[in-house]
Amino acid sequence: QADLALFMAKSAGKENYEFFSPELLDSSLRKQEITAALQQALVNGEFSVHYQPQVELVSGRVIGFEALLRWNSALGAVAPSEFIPVAEECGAIHSIGEWVLREACLQLAAWQKEGRPAICVSVNVSAKQFLDTQFAEKVARILAETDVPAEYVEIEITESVMIDLDASSALVEELQAIGVKLAIDDFGTGYSSLNAIKNIQIDTLKIDKSLVDEVLGSDRSMAILATIIELGKNLGAEVVVEGLETIEQVTLMRQYEVIGQGYYFSRPLPGDKAARVWDKYLEQPNGLFHAPVLY
Ligand code: C2E
Ligand code: MG
Ligand code: MG
Ligand code: MG
Repeated sequence: QADLALFMAKSAGKENYEFFSPELLDSSLRKQEITAALQQALVNGEFSVHYQPQVELVSGRVIGFEALLRWNSALGAVAPSEFIPVAEECGAIHSIGEWVLREACLQLAAWQKEGRPAICVSVNVSAKQFLDTQFAEKVARILAETDVPAEYVEIEITESVMIDLDASSALVEELQAIGVKLAIDDFGTGYSSLNAIKNIQIDTLKIDKSLVDEVLGSDRSMAILATIIELGKNLGAEVVVEGLETIEQVTLMRQYEVIGQGYYFSRPLPGDKAARVWDKYLEQPNGLFHAPVLY
């Protein structure tokens, strides 16, 4: 194992022996384990998709769900923040990403069959998938297979993908022609957030949790957040504020007429449980201002 780490340290640079460390050994082994486990994960049925509601704060209506991937592997539960970068690196992200999109569309179709109101589902798409010239075709095929109208599907990409988009902006046009919506995720965390939205018509701006976390204690943070919300609206986009956890945050954000997403409303849940949370909101749209929905 030490040989392996030494070999990897060597091949990373010419004489980078100083990089050898127990931490490197641990992290490279962990990555190898994850890479190996990922190869079998789809066929073994180890993935599932959880759904987190997005709530229009003024009305208390659930207007969408974000699909979030979960992996219960032989290694135990592994968080997306850990395995998605590995899946990007080893190429598994393409088949996994397609699977998530199909799964989310199947869930939408199932909810429709149960007689539920039409609703939008947002699916995270990684930078690597956006470099795939056949990505739009794949999206179109999955929509056709699952019989889901394109307008109910939103693709979430991060700022950095947007900024690097020159080469792949044909893809954006293809996606817009298909009719799926486009959201920028984690807005406000990059170095050139404004560049990300300059040239591309987006449907939704999702403001990162980190911008919301400090607003209750800081006028300056609130001024920045209010201005970003205004920016999104001026661009004709829906604005989603991520990571709302408390009634204080929800009450404050409600004045800005945004859509809220966060643990306050619900954690991401399996489809059947998410639908039960949705039912509560259908019964009592403004229940959220009295007590969080229990599940
Ligand atoms: P994201 O797209 O920004 O998703 C929001 C993350 O914040 C989710 O973490 C969600 O569980 C978490 N979250 C929601 N509300 C709250 C809250 O009130 N408080 C806190 N502390 N966290 C909250 P999760 O599910 O662990 O996903 C992490 C990231 O992994 C996602 O960030 C997304 O970038 C990526 N990801 C998840 N699923 C997929 C997928 O299917 N494909 C790709 N490419 N990336 C995915
Ligand atoms: Mg997201
Ligand atoms: Mg986000
Ligand atoms: Mg985030």
